[in-house]
Amino acid sequence: MSFRADLHCHTIYSDGTDEPAAVIALASQLNLQGLSITDHDTIDAYKQVVKSDIPLLPGVEISAVFQGEAIHVLGYAFSPKNPDIHALLALQKQKRVERNFRIFEKLNTLGIAITESDMHVHQIGRPHIANYLIEQGLVGSIQEAFDRYLGEGKMAYDPGNRLEVSEVINAIHAAKGKAILAHPHLIKRKRILKNLLDLPFDGIECYYAKLFSTEEKPFVAIAEKKGWLATGGSDYHGSTKPQIPLGCSWVGQQTFEALYEHFLKNT
Ligand code: AMP
Ligand code: ZN
Ligand code: FE
Ligand code: FE
Repeated sequence: MSFRADLHCHTIYSDGTDEPAAVIALASQLNLQGLSITDHDTIDAYKQVVKSDIPLLPGVEISAVFQGEAIHVLGYAFSPKNPDIHALLALQKQKRVERNFRIFEKLNTLGIAITESDMHVHQIGRPHIANYLIEQGLVGSIQEAFDRYLGEGKMAYDPGNRLEVSEVINAIHAAKGKAILAHPHLIKRKRILKNLLDLPFDGIECYYAKLFSTEEKPFVAIAEKKGWLATGGSDYHGSTKPQIPLGCSWVGQQTFEALYEHFLKNT
């Protein structure tokens, strides 16, 4: 089997359902030769990892905003001990707590009793709030929770006071990491994508979950034209998204080693 490294997955430290060690064990079992855990706005998973059978590239998926659109920026290859990455994540944590508080207030106004203490997770994300609404019998599925309450523009939506994409790229660069535009196919407004491509990213996520190669191709062409990294990964979340298995998208040896060698230089 040829070299495969999955550069996008989540653990219980954000809205995935597996422990970091379980994701690493699964990656080994699948014969992946490289992995990056990219939790939303946190690198706490890396504190739990004592050993990994396969090279583990530090990563994170940062929430940001660009021209009104929610954008995710992947950061890779920084040292997990870098103070600049910790400053960025502390800021993101504070913004998330404040946003969650406003979501709870909006749900309270709608007559739904919910507080932060109802959620027993490391870091609250909207999928956790959706699960709580299911437990309370208020909705039948995560999708229904987003469609009625939590999705963009819905009754309890709060956009959060997000950083600009350019600020996030600068912060990742300050931490000596590589900044990658995550899942660009999800950006529906083509003008926004075009404008984003003018920012100083180091790469673009071309291979993603179960995208067809015809859908990946235009992004690979953009990476080639710009001399950017063409990255990819599954966006595995565990049992909440059973249709997306770990390793269903990956990068080859050349891309993984470029990032991993950059990380080794930083440590
Ligand atoms: P948060 O980081 O708390 O804003 O939560 C973001 C996560 O919620 C994303 O990674 C998705 O997995 C999920 N999500 C966002 N929008 C939707 C939606 N419309 N339907 C279902 N899940 C969504
Ligand atoms: Zn997620
Ligand atoms: Fe994302
Ligand atoms: Fe993700």
